[in-house]
This record gives sequence, structure tokens and C-alpha cells, in this order.
Amino acid sequence: MSLRRKLVVGNWKMNGSLAGLAELGPIADSARDAGGVDVGICPPFTLIAAAVTRSGGLTIGAQDCHQAASGAHTGCVSAAMLKEAGAKLAIVGHSERRADQGESDALVRAKAEAALAAGLITIVCVGESEAEREAGDHLRVVTDMLAGSLPDDWAEGELVVAYEPVWAIGTGKVATPADVAQMHAALREALVARYGDRGGRVRILYGGSVKADNAAELFRCPDVDGGLVGGASLTAAQFVPIVEAAR
Ligand code: PEP
Repeated sequence: MSLRRKLVVGNWKMNGSLAGLAELGPIADSARDAGGVDVGICPPFTLIAAAVTRSGGLTIGAQDCHQAASGAHTGCVSAAMLKEAGAKLAIVGHSERRADQGESDALVRAKAEAALAAGLITIVCVGESEAEREAGDHLRVVTDMLAGSLPDDWAEGELVVAYEPVWAIGTGKVATPADVAQMHAALREALVARYGDRGGRVRILYGGSVKADNAAELFRCPDVDGGLVGGASLTAAQFVPIVEAAR
């Protein structure tokens, strides 16, 4: 089995409800039909355990984790707790957390290390702002962010990178296939330079306003191994065509 099977992950952010978990059924059906594609959903923490019972084979994940294993961190959730709740995956370093919670590359790296140590598939997010792209600085900014956010050690298949240009998240603006291909090639080069052959097997997802009508074109770009999807993952009606586009 290829270690770079396509992976499509929905990030529900601070949306969803117990009733909304009904969306998982048709998504799981499409994931089964779309053989060869791994499909995950990351609901809010409070829905993870219930989502696991209704996952139908989907990978249920979390949108964040704390970097420590346990301790006096009021309001936080550790990777081991997520694992115990049934999560198999964690997103770390999402740009909304980097902006809203001031998460640095070093903190994201510590969170990635904690998630990997708990045995979670770990998606490390990186991406540039609109101003950085307009200044022509995007490749340097994103590869520097990657270098600072990645752990040294990880088990085969468990580290995933998501390139999410900040200006494309939730805006309806999508990076062009040429821009995506250029960035993913730079990320691949950086991964291989750091990890050797293993870096060639890390999946790199694109995220930022992926929808049914642009997913196939984005997923065809070289070195795009799937997608991280926000708004369009909230309903099966919008998410299923994206999963199908990854086939
Ligand atoms: C995201 O939040 O990871 C994301 C890609 O959001 P959207 O698809 O809504 O742009």
C-alpha cells in the first residue's frame, strides 16, 4: 500500500452538534466507495467520542492538542486524552490558532511531538499571509515555518503537512494550480532535504477554500496528496464530492 494514499480531512472548527453527526453516515459511505482515499473529520473536542461511535470507518481527529502530557493547564486537552476518546489524528499549527492564540513555530513543533508520541496521525499546518505573498516572500516564509514546526522524529505514515495559504482560508479565494504546485514542490524539497527518502513519503495536503468545483483540479497538482477542508466539510452534500474528487 502506498504511504501517499490521498487523504481528505474535514476541519469543522467551532461548528457542529450531536445532531450534526448525522452527516458522518453519508460521508463514511462515500469514503468506502472511494477506495484508496483516507477520509477524516475533526469535530470540536466535545464531539470526538460521539463521532467515533458513528464514524463508519472514518478517521476521527482533533483540531489541536496541548504539548504537555498532563498537568495544570486549565481548559486544555492532551494528545493522550484525545487518543483515549478515540481520535486517531490531530491538526496542529492551524493558522487560526497561530493568529488567535499566538502559537509560535516552536509551540507547534512541541504539539506535533506530543501528538506523534501519543500515536496520532499529525497534520502540521503552514501557510503565508496575503501580504507575504504580495511581497514575493511566500516560499521563504512557508519553508521557514515548516522548518520550525516539524519534529525530528516520527513514525512512517504518521506525519502529514498541510499547506494552507492564510488568504485562501474561508475566503473563497483559491490558490492557482500553478501556485499550489510551486509551493508543494518547495515543501517536498524541504522535507527530502531534512528527512531523506522518508521526506518523499510525507503526505502534503492543500487547504484553502477547497470546494466540489475546484477539488479535482487541485488534487491533480503534483505533490498534492489530498486536502484539508473547512467550510465545505460541514455537510455531506458539500464534502462527498470533494472526497470523490480525490479518487
Ligand atoms: C481550514 O480551515 O483548514 C480551511 C481550509 O478552511 P476553508 O476550507 O473553509 O477555507
